[in-house]
Amino acid sequence: MYRPLFAVIDLAHLSHNIRYLKSRLRPGASLMVAVKADAYGHGVRAVVGRLVREGVHHVAVASLEEALEIRAFHRGVNILVLGAVTPDACMKAAEAEVEIALTDLSPIDEIPRLPKRLRVHLPLDTGMNRLGVKRTDEAVALARAIAKREDLELVGAGTHLAAADAEDPAHAAGQMERLGAFVRALEQAGLRPPRIHAGNSAALLRNPAWHLDMVRVGIAAYGYSPDPSVLPAPSLRPVMSLYAGVLRVAQAQPGETVGYGATFTVTRPMTIATVAGGYADGYPRHLSNEGEVLVRGEFRPVIGRVCMDQLMVDVTGLDVATGDVVALFGYDAPALWRAGWWSRLRPEERVARVQETYRMASNLGERRVLSLHRLAERAQTIPYEILCRVHRRVPRVVC
Ligand code: PLP
Repeated sequence: MYRPLFAVIDLAHLSHNIRYLKSRLRPGASLMVAVKADAYGHGVRAVVGRLVREGVHHVAVASLEEALEIRAFHRGVNILVLGAVTPDACMKAAEAEVEIALTDLSPIDEIPRLPKRLRVHLPLDTGMNRLGVKRTDEAVALARAIAKREDLELVGAGTHLAAADAEDPAHAAGQMERLGAFVRALEQAGLRPPRIHAGNSAALLRNPAWHLDMVRVGIAAYGYSPDPSVLPAPSLRPVMSLYAGVLRVAQAQPGETVGYGATFTVTRPMTIATVAGGYADGYPRHLSNEGEVLVRGEFRPVIGRVCMDQLMVDVTGLDVATGDVVALFGYDAPALWRAGWWSRLRPEERVARVQETYRMASNLGERRVLSLHRLAERAQTIPYEILCRVHRRVPRVVC
């Protein structure tokens, strides 16, 4: 770590969230965790390792590339590719023992004979209008075609709920009803696969009747309710915190402006901290003049436009020095505030220092949190997007 900008990935919080989600799960249902997009930006290797330790046997990704990346370091875990896999890639999926969802991009008669059995899921469109078959007779025909092939095995059928976190549950309930019709049709044809799945984090938190055989959770595992106003889940703990170093502290006088486009004008004597981290690192540019940063336990405003690699913060009245560390989101870490530790240590010592001080801070109990819900709302987005967009140039320190 050379540049003072890093994300802490708290695996103890991931474990905590998984245990909590399991406690809410309908008995008999299993948990699949979505680890697509590098585990929602957290780092897929560390996340999958911890999930397996927590007894999670199923993970979901969006592409075969993501599945193969996991397979390269983990042989045992069940991996489902939710997105489209082309017929020529089915060979690779079968070899790597990766499950796929059949889509229109992989018509069954175009899948070549496979030397190894490929486990497949039926994607059922019950109201999202994204992927999958829309009619029950299509689903039965597809299940029949799969059953005829010795190199394919139907292990699941799933749908995706478009609005399980909406205030009014009617849309999700309608989708569940249509899923019921699909399942009955498959049962009547003697083709019901063992794992029927529909639920995401919202469904898990909302209604055990929507858990079925398996729930595919994503955001809740990483510590956020999909919508806390509808589904409050205060027990969940954010897994990622993003920390940045102060690069300069300067005084500004009334009439001066801050940043590109001169969108912020100083109206009183002000102390401005320039902080590492900009939109290229994943900090939303929409937070220009809107964002907040945790500085020494206080929420302080982002002033001016967020740059590609830096942002500016009003720290007037605070004892802040170059080299101090602030939280761009996640948990406050008082032990990291102190100026100077970053430059005193050699780069290879910094990871251990962050791990040690972060752990120490979390053992001290209550800490302030700068929630991504708060930032996402101001950036007109959702925590999912901010997490996924933390750039790979930002080191992840696993604690
Ligand atoms: N299932 C599918 C098909 C998805 O696309 C996603 C996420 O986008 C999930 C499950 C997990 O959703 P969430 O993160 O809301 O729990």
